[in-house]
Amino acid sequence: MPAIWSSLLHLFFPRLCLLCKEPLTKQEEQVCQRCFCKLPYTCFYETGNNRLFHRLMGKALIEQATAYLYYVKKGMTQQLVFSLKYYGNKELACLLGRRMALYFRDTPLRSAADVLIPVPLHRKRERKRGYNQSEKLCQGIASVWNLPIDTTSLYRAIKTDTQTKRGFYDRWLNMQNVFAVRDIEALQGKHVILVDDVITSGSTICFCAEALLSTVPGIRVSVMGLAVVR
Ligand SMILES: [Zn+2]
Repeated sequence: MPAIWSSLLHLFFPRLCLLCKEPLTKQEEQVCQRCFCKLPYTCFYETGNNRLFHRLMGKALIEQATAYLYYVKKGMTQQLVFSLKYYGNKELACLLGRRMALYFRDTPLRSAADVLIPVPLHRKRERKRGYNQSEKLCQGIASVWNLPIDTTSLYRAIKTDTQTKRGFYDRWLNMQNVFAVRDIEALQGKHVILVDDVITSGSTICFCAEALLSTVPGIRVSVMGLAVVR
């Protein structure tokens, strides 16, 4: 579109910040710089020693773990997650993936990683939504860290009910044997980063890690979340 038309278009239909609803500048995408500054960042730069890592290490033998934002009900992170998960905002997932990769670019996780693996959605749910939001996050991360994404080796074998209303033990029973691995050779000896949108107790991502660790020789698994529940 010629610049003059796009300027006119923005004059009459300004693009608004997803969070504060103020008009965005030309350089800003989706979220204004002021809101980006106010997001609840975790500061989990020590990827082998932080609150999330300690939460997960009792459940699976993961190497490192980190998350970009804290997730609080009705908070800014929840608004972002809803937009990328339930309102079809794929671009936001890619953008946050890129931001997250820049935020963690000097961490040991970056230098150790060989491949990114998104936590798989069940195919039916992915078809309904049109995309897997964790895969979109991976695309953002991959574009900055220059890493491959593997979307086929780890897959969801059994459909699970939606997780939100179940108790911990029910969820745990429900998730056993949900994930399986194909193409074991491709992952052999690799350090993979499992990527998810929101990590709550960490059960889902640890079941993914377990599936990989129990089937692929020499694999190492780390975890990266867009957000973690405090
Ligand atoms: Zn804003």
